[in-house]
Amino acid sequence: DSKNEGRNKLKVFDPATLHAQLLQRQIVGELREAIRADQLVLYYQPIVELSTGRIEGCEALVRWNHPVHGLIMPDQFIPIAEATGLIAELGRWVLRTAVRQLRRWRDHPVTAQQDFSMRINASAADLQSLEFVDAVSAALAEEHLAPDSLVLELTESAIIQNNELDRYTLASLHRLGVGLEIDDFGAGYSSMGYLRKLPVDRVKVDRQFVKDLGKDPSQLGFLAAIQHVIHSCGLEGVWEGIETAEQAEALRSIGCASGQGYYFGRPLPEAEFTEQLSRLRTWPG
Ligand code: C2E
Ligand code: MG
Ligand code: MG
Ligand code: MG
Repeated sequence: DSKNEGRNKLKVFDPATLHAQLLQRQIVGELREAIRADQLVLYYQPIVELSTGRIEGCEALVRWNHPVHGLIMPDQFIPIAEATGLIAELGRWVLRTAVRQLRRWRDHPVTAQQDFSMRINASAADLQSLEFVDAVSAALAEEHLAPDSLVLELTESAIIQNNELDRYTLASLHRLGVGLEIDDFGAGYSSMGYLRKLPVDRVKVDRQFVKDLGKDPSQLGFLAAIQHVIHSCGLEGVWEGIETAEQAEALRSIGCASGQGYYFGRPLPEAEFTEQLSRLRTWPG
């Protein structure tokens, strides 16, 4: 009857859903515009060699400098970009901007060292794109940078879909000579078997493992075991989320190579990061 029909219609045109859809559409439109209008900005966070304190590189982390809402963090818009396909365009912007920045830092006393590398976060969509390898290659060539000065961070979920195209792209990137790093290792439920099969060089261990350090005496042994697995696969470990001197020292004591976290430095915009590099030739100076 008509009463039921009305109820059903109400469900279809649920105002909350409609509002969410409109909001989503508005955000997507604004984000597309933001990429073109240079409203995106990269922040840089140091990555430190634990045994020496040398700054071996940095990770570029994107933020959206929104004219009304201010600085928006990536967790708020990367998922939307991924769901709508905008991530490809966003990723190209990040690639070009980060590589251009690395070129600028090449003349800086700290970053002039040939092995200072720039890390960017690649997405699952990048591995599904045949043009991605060419885009990486062209961006590096344009700035006269060696391929190994760029490291691509890939999450487990992006990398282990393990279809033919992913494997082809990964192999091509590896052949090109850019560094490949697993990001957020251990955060998901995937098996570790892929560590031996994929052409990756480094593994960045998820920060949850470092967070629990110091709470439970057995945690350090657990981290040492993870470290051992990484080494056994012929890979380098990078530990993220280091917030205290104690955590840095504990990781160093079990032979962990590299670290990243608020203890060494928070992500900073270009000018502040450059200033930090000038102040600290090596960490802690
Ligand atoms: P991620 O790649 O794992 O980046 C590390 C995140 O941990 C960053 O958050 C960083 O600010 C934060 N972090 C660093 N040190 C510490 C610490 O000591 N303690 C704690 N609690 N957090 C720390 P951010 O910048 O909010 O980025 C979040 C995620 O967004 C990134 O995780 C990455 O997955 C994604 N993302 C960021 N930039 C890009 C990008 O350019 N492209 C893509 N596709 N994803 C990006
Ligand atoms: Mg990352
Ligand atoms: Mg990570
Ligand atoms: Mg993450």
